Formats: sequence, C-alpha cells, structure tokens
Amino acid sequence: MTSPSALPAPHASSLDLHGRTALVTGAAGGIGRACALRLAAAGAEVRAVDRDAAGLEALAGSCGGLAGSVEPQVLDLTDLDAAERAAAGTDILVNNAGLQLVRPLEEFPPDVFHTVLTVMLEAPFRLIRGALPHMYGQGWGRIVNISSVHGLRASAYKAAYVSAKHGLEGLSKTAALEGAAHGVTSNCVNPGYVRTPLVERQLADQARAHGVPEEQVLSDVLLRDSAVRRLIEPDEVAEAVAYLCGPHTSSLTGTSLVLDGGWTAH
Ligand code: NAD
Repeated sequence: MTSPSALPAPHASSLDLHGRTALVTGAAGGIGRACALRLAAAGAEVRAVDRDAAGLEALAGSCGGLAGSVEPQVLDLTDLDAAERAAAGTDILVNNAGLQLVRPLEEFPPDVFHTVLTVMLEAPFRLIRGALPHMYGQGWGRIVNISSVHGLRASAYKAAYVSAKHGLEGLSKTAALEGAAHGVTSNCVNPGYVRTPLVERQLADQARAHGVPEEQVLSDVLLRDSAVRRLIEPDEVAEAVAYLCGPHTSSLTGTSLVLDGGWTAH
C-alpha cells in the first residue's frame, strides 16, 4: 500500500489547452460565451459559432490578453450540412446552442418543435459526426453537451426543450460508448437555472403572464425545487466544461455532471 508521504503533493489544477482547437456553439452569449472565454483562457484556439453576428463580434472584442484565441464564425445551425462541415478538425466540441418556448402541448407550434429539435439535437449529432474523424485519427477528443436538469426531469409546457435535452442525453451516451476505444469522451453538463439572456427572457415572460414581479417568479417558479437559492452563474458552468476537458478525465465518460443547486436531490 502506498504510504501517504509517497503520494504526489497536492497541486492547483492547471488546465493547459495550448495546441488544442475547440468549437463552441451558441457562443455569442450566456453559457456559450463563458465556455469560449474559459477554454481560450486555458490556451485553446476557439471557434465561436453562433447565428448572432453582433454577439460574436462583442465576444471577439473581449478576448484580449487570453492565452488562446477566439475566432468568430457566423452560422445558423439549422443548416445541418454546414454545421457538420464546421466541426471538422476540432479537438474539443461543446454543443451548447439552444432556444426555448414555453407553451402547453396542445398549443405548441409544430414548426417551433421542429426547429428546437433541429438546433438542440440534430445539429449536435451532425457536429459530433463532423468532429469524430479527426478525434479518432489522433486518439483524443472531448465532447461536452450542455444539457440541463430538463435532460433528466420534465417540466410542464416545455415539450420541445425537454424532448431535445432527453435526446441529447442519449446521443451523448452513445458517443461515449463508440468513442471510448479512440480516446474520445462524451459527457453532459446539466445546469439548473443559469443567469443568461434565455432565463432573463423567461423571467420577464412569466412575470407578465402571471401579473407578478420577476423576483416572485424567480423564487416561486424557477428556484422552487433548488436547495441553493440563487441562479447559477455562466462561469460556474464553464468551469465544469473546462474540467471535462482536463487531464484527469479519460475515464469520465457517458455521464451527466449535474449543477442544479440540489434540484434533482428531491
Ligand atoms: P442564450 O439564449 O443566452 O444563448 C443561446 C445561444 O444559442 C444564443 O447566442 C443564440 O444566438 C444561439 N442560437 C440559438 N439558435 C441558434 C441557431 N439556430 N444557430 C446558431 N446559434 C443559435 O442561452 P443560454 O442560457 O446561454 O443557454 C445555452 C445552453 O445552455 C442551451 O443549450 C440551454 O438549453 C442550456 N441551459 C441553459 C440554462 C439556463 O438556465 N440558462 C439551464 C440549463 C441549460
């Protein structure tokens, strides 16, 4: 048995992604922006993909002084062929882009359901498909899928989002099984409510719909099941993504890293 004195000294975790390329979708704002900045801070060359050109420009403008770089790429992920092409040659793929519509099933517009599934499930499939040949060729790759508590639990009125996230969980696990022999891991990160434009829009919509202040929607609706009584910050999610790209994670695959303030502990 190894004596405690023979163990390596504890050291600060230092993520070094110099020489790695990363593609982050939905990078113009919120969680995607935080992930792009975190990976670039660790030295990666980040391809920041989004349909929001202005948001990408703002991101690129705030990257001075980082160890790595951020290259904006305007792309609408509903163009699935272009999405697959864009993923070629990347070492790290962060599937993050997403959208939400809150509406009862019987009123849910079929075209919106289709778009949500396209952006949040089919595009990740095509991006993974585009990224794997390079990852397999070099025997290393990291796929991180930004899922949600809604990949594990349903909420009423979120049929498309919940369906897409549950599908993403399955896609991620399948990629983990197939990628293992090639040094490629695939995992989900599952946040509860994060302080991003997507959630700020939901807060405003629900406050208007119920005729109550936004603070009440936050505490009574969004944080109802959360033991930690605050929104999660985008940087906290980015840190989980960075960890999954780090040096000690080759056995960490096919799983879901839940950051939900205790929501799913119920
Ligand atoms: P956000 O709205 O701030 O950012 C989403 C980004 O995706 C935007 O920049 C948007 O332009 C981009 N996007 C949407 N459709 C696109 C398309 N067709 N092509 C290219 N880009 C497109 O949202 P966010 O809160 O940062 O969410 C990011 C991810 O995190 C999503 O997958 C979301 O489901 C997930 N998530 C968010 C929360 C939360 O509370 N905010 C919680 C759990 C999971």
